[in-house]
Amino acid sequence: MSSACVVGAGVFGAATARELALRGWHVTLVEQYAPGTVRSASGGDTRLLRMAHGGVDWYADLAWRARSLWIDLQEQTGTRIWEPVGVAWFAQREDGFEARSRPALDRLGVSYEWLAPDDARSLYPSFATGDLAAVLLESDAGVLRARAATQLLVEDGVRHGVRVEGGRATPAAPPGADVVVWACGPWLAGLFPQHVELKITRRDVFFFGADSAWQDAPGFCDYDAPYYGHGDIAGLGVKVAPDLPGEEIDPDTVDRIPLAEREREARAYAAQRFPALAEAPVLGGRVCQYDLSADTHFIVDRHPEHPGWWLAGGSSGHGFKHGPALAEYLADCIEGKREREPFHALGARSGDAGLRTASIG
Ligand SMILES: Cc1cc2nc3c(=O)[nH]c(=O)nc-3n(C[C@H](O)[C@H](O)[C@H](O)COP(=O)(O)OP(=O)(O)OC[C@H]3O[C@@H](n4cnc5c(N)ncnc54)[C@H](O)[C@@H]3O)c2cc1C
Repeated sequence: MSSACVVGAGVFGAATARELALRGWHVTLVEQYAPGTVRSASGGDTRLLRMAHGGVDWYADLAWRARSLWIDLQEQTGTRIWEPVGVAWFAQREDGFEARSRPALDRLGVSYEWLAPDDARSLYPSFATGDLAAVLLESDAGVLRARAATQLLVEDGVRHGVRVEGGRATPAAPPGADVVVWACGPWLAGLFPQHVELKITRRDVFFFGADSAWQDAPGFCDYDAPYYGHGDIAGLGVKVAPDLPGEEIDPDTVDRIPLAEREREARAYAAQRFPALAEAPVLGGRVCQYDLSADTHFIVDRHPEHPGWWLAGGSSGHGFKHGPALAEYLADCIEGKREREPFHALGARSGDAGLRTASIG
């Protein structure tokens, strides 16, 4: 049996370890903190799963496949990780990201509606639509309970033979295995500075207290604002997250206390878009980080000097939803069943595919 060591138990690493174990590999998963640690991007409470990708079809297809795999995992384990609440895109233009996403949704058969602003008002208990050109409601989209889902991938991987070890692996003292997958999120650039260029930037997320009418309201993306979030899920409150450019941080040492300035921005947005939330109390907040590649495409490639090593990361603030489907793709690449996509290659990147839920930053 071939052996693999996966370094990093975020969603990319946890899903890849489980996928390889399901394919009969002897797998070890090494994590420096705890699987699903809140220091990792995968350790957030919730993450949106949407198929709309502004016309970059590869990711629409991947998200659609991942949705089935997440639902299968939920059904097989009896553990709730998926909230089928839909995601509403607040289109500020008729010809923006939202409109460019429609052909792929049509091709895949994803359920969606293109609503006039007046017809979208009932989506939320309080919703100001005066500045919008339209609302794209993706009914098949929803929200994943991210930290729980990451930990579930690890638990299910263990059921299928994955061995989990604590510790920090390095290229200088690498794990001994036929294949090593370095799925190290924002730590990847520090481990491989000659091959990986990432900007590790801070993001603050807020949960506001609202009444029961907000339960299970759809997720939302205001791409050109840029803000995103969802209704009250699992009692967390209504999530409102500014997606404005953030400063560069060290994910090991940053204090994870949200900034007052970001809270003011989130509250101002909530007051304007969802007026009933203007005075809502803050129930909680999280500080997380993006590992941004220059063009927002992921990195999935073989190390040029170590043919048995694969690097996977650069998820650029939009990777969570794809976890299990990305793992299938990566496992296929490792097993030589397909080639990695040219846009996932190591090395310099140019342009911006705009794959995050924000038009800037
Ligand atoms: C605020 C915020 C909101 C987001 N919203 C969404 C969303 O709505 N939808 C979506 O799809 N995505 C979203 N994302 C992005 C998504 O969370 C990430 O793309 C995804 O979680 C990245 O997973 P990862 O496994 O690559 O990295 P991580 O989750 O960061 O995991 C990397 C893991 O590797 C470990 N590690 C690193 N180096 C080593 C080492 N040397 N040895 C051992 N272990 C190591 C780390 O401790 C960590 O556990 C969001 C991200 C943030 C921050």
